[in-house]
Amino acid sequence: AKARGKDRYELFDQLMHSRTIEQLKLETDLRHALERSEFVVYYQPIVVTATGQIGGFEALVRWQHPTLGFIIPNRFIPTAEETGMVVRLGIWVLREACRQMYVWQSKFPATQAMEISVNLSGRQFFQSDLLEQICQVLAETGLPPYRLKLEITESTIMGDVVKTSSLLHQLRDIGIKLSLDDFGTGYSSLSYLHNFPLNTIKIDRSFIDRLGVNGENREIIEAIVDLAHKLNMNVIAEGVETTQQLEHLRSIGCEQVQGYLFAAPLPVEAIEKILSAEI
Ligand code: C2E
Ligand code: CA
Ligand code: CA
Ligand code: CA
Repeated sequence: AKARGKDRYELFDQLMHSRTIEQLKLETDLRHALERSEFVVYYQPIVVTATGQIGGFEALVRWQHPTLGFIIPNRFIPTAEETGMVVRLGIWVLREACRQMYVWQSKFPATQAMEISVNLSGRQFFQSDLLEQICQVLAETGLPPYRLKLEITESTIMGDVVKTSSLLHQLRDIGIKLSLDDFGTGYSSLSYLHNFPLNTIKIDRSFIDRLGVNGENREIIEAIVDLAHKLNMNVIAEGVETTQQLEHLRSIGCEQVQGYLFAAPLPVEAIEKILSAEI
């Protein structure tokens, strides 16, 4: 038994070691991934609860690594954030998503009423030239500002309330829409919420997850929806996987839903198939 225990320990040690090597490889390779065109943007439909129609898409980045294959953002965004590389990556995703939306505009006229949501990392949000960069992308791609929605997390927004508020007002003044991402996961920002010119609150998936089981989160979600409405904001629920969750959300007036029940994040060709069928 002792020997087996030792074997097991060695196996564990080896696993940890290869983990670290793989992590190091990711960190090194990440530096060149952008110029090697290894990133791809996937799009997840956001559905209008009342009509079942697509109201927009969220742009979600993926890394197509030459040897390790397809890598999801949770495995490289934190590193990109640490090294600051997320700033260049973020602008690339923004440009790519706006460009794609502009292409769809003429190809699928129904998309003209749709918005494109793009995630902004904390690091990116506090870049001094963020506003210029965004304006430049809009000018370059031709996408009207009101079709762009930026998603900022609760923890980013609470970092520096005064600075955030002024920046958000500047973005709003250009006509860009703003969404508070992962709502409910950070520390409570309820008393600050009215300082920020937000269009949308996105309820984090963890709340929706528990909704289906016994409805224990129903009151909390309902309170978030009511609060948002009182502040003139609308609500998106993320991670909707069951019709039961959808029915709950519909009954409490949640305007939009996003999740595997409708579609996972998909590559351009798959989204175009959906758009062809919609029209
Ligand atoms: P997020 O912004 O909260 O994005 C939603 C995540 O939930 C996505 O994971 C999406 O695939 C996943 N999701 C959507 N519907 C469902 C569902 O019904 N069930 C479950 N289990 N999951 C669902 P993804 O694409 O792996 O992205 C993870 C996170 O990485 C994002 O969370 C976001 O924080 C970050 N991220 C992705 N793309 C970018 C980007 O371009 N820039 C920045 N800064 N962050 C990004
Ligand atoms: Ca998001
Ligand atoms: Ca989210
Ligand atoms: Ca999240």
